[in-house]
Amino acid sequence: MATRLLVSDLLTRLGATRRERLDVPIDVSLIQASIEGEAVLDIRISGIGDGVIVRGTAAVTVRYSCNRCLVEWDEPLEVGIDQVYRVEPEDTDVEMTVDATGWIDVGATVHDEIVLALEPVPLCTPDCRGLCPECGSDLNTEPCAGHGEASSSPFAALEHLFDS
Ligand SMILES: [Zn+2]
Ligand SMILES: [Zn+2]
Repeated sequence: MATRLLVSDLLTRLGATRRERLDVPIDVSLIQASIEGEAVLDIRISGIGDGVIVRGTAAVTVRYSCNRCLVEWDEPLEVGIDQVYRVEPEDTDVEMTVDATGWIDVGATVHDEIVLALEPVPLCTPDCRGLCPECGSDLNTEPCAGHGEASSSPFAALEHLFDS
């Protein structure tokens, strides 16, 4: 596994292209999503005179955690990669650097594209019923009988308002 690629052979050859497949280590640990292991990168690297452009895809398996019921599942994710690397970047917001010995590091690009593509509020199913806020039982699999009249009545909240 590696995140660096030697591209010195393509730097000065405008239009010259090479295909690469490599496994890029990736480690993402968020509340709703985590990725451990590697991203499978399938890219073409093309010379653009003073640098290279890297285009292709990165594929990973994401472990999501349902935002409502906390159940976990694995889901494949593939993102597009389209990144310019220059010996002397013109705009460091969008371009990355080819170092003095002709290497690029694709790790940050792959990591950022994948994190941007993650589902922000993952749900195991669109109508997941979540956990009972009182007893914590999973309402998808073990319907909770309720906790007394107050919580089972749809008017409980209103009654409470009138009480105060
Ligand atoms: Zn769920
Ligand atoms: Zn309950």
